[in-house]
Amino acid sequence: MKIKRYKHARRYLGFYKNLFNFQEPHLVLVDGTFTCMALRHKTNIQEQLPKYLGGNIQLMTTKCAIVETESLGKELFGAAAILKRYKILKCPHREKPVPGADCFTELIGEENKQHYYIATQDPELTEHVHTIPGIPLLYMNMNAIVLEKPSKASNHFAEKLTKKKTKPSAVEKETLKQLKGTEEKSKVERQKKRRRPKEPNPLSVKRKKKNKSVQETPKGAETAGRRKRRNRSKVAKHIREQMRTSDER
Ligand SMILES: [Zn+2]
Repeated sequence: MKIKRYKHARRYLGFYKNLFNFQEPHLVLVDGTFTCMALRHKTNIQEQLPKYLGGNIQLMTTKCAIVETESLGKELFGAAAILKRYKILKCPHREKPVPGADCFTELIGEENKQHYYIATQDPELTEHVHTIPGIPLLYMNMNAIVLEKPSKASNHFAEKLTKKKTKPSAVEKETLKQLKGTEEKSKVERQKKRRRPKEPNPLSVKRKKKNKSVQETPKGAETAGRRKRRNRSKVAKHIREQMRTSDER
């Protein structure tokens, strides 16, 4: 189970790295719901997360997330204390803190340009994260940290991007057009060449006539000649002389 979890994480990390240009250090925005769950299951995020994701990790949170967690009662003081150990990102709510989910939503923006990971158990924040392509989501499953499978929005964006990459550019289009033109030209030439043998070949016509004359005339003559020769050879010399003398008479 653990191996499978790690294997999936590697694959998803590759997805974000290749299609959304995620680079190290991994910037993980953590809220109070996540640290609360980790604390409940005695999971040390700072120890476990680098092992799970591999490479450099920067755990981060915001003042808003800390204030919200602290405000939820004594039970969450431990979770808030963990958050305070992380790097505190400057958010635009210094004067008036907002709920952690709203604060994170604003930091992510519409494109997650800073390449943040979001670590949360908050269903509403999770739902929002799912609508924006390119946000890796981390959650706790009992005592295990899990990198969620890329959302539909991420996959859809990735598909579009791949299509765009495989589509020919303007220059490539022009080259293709030119190539197509030369191809058509050579096609026409090939057709022209192919038509040539269809025209009557003067040589073959001549040969036909010759054959005809050869076949028509000498058949009878040839056989007669042969007969003559045969007759001549069959008649003995003294008989032939007798025939000549009788003719002379
Ligand atoms: Zn804030």
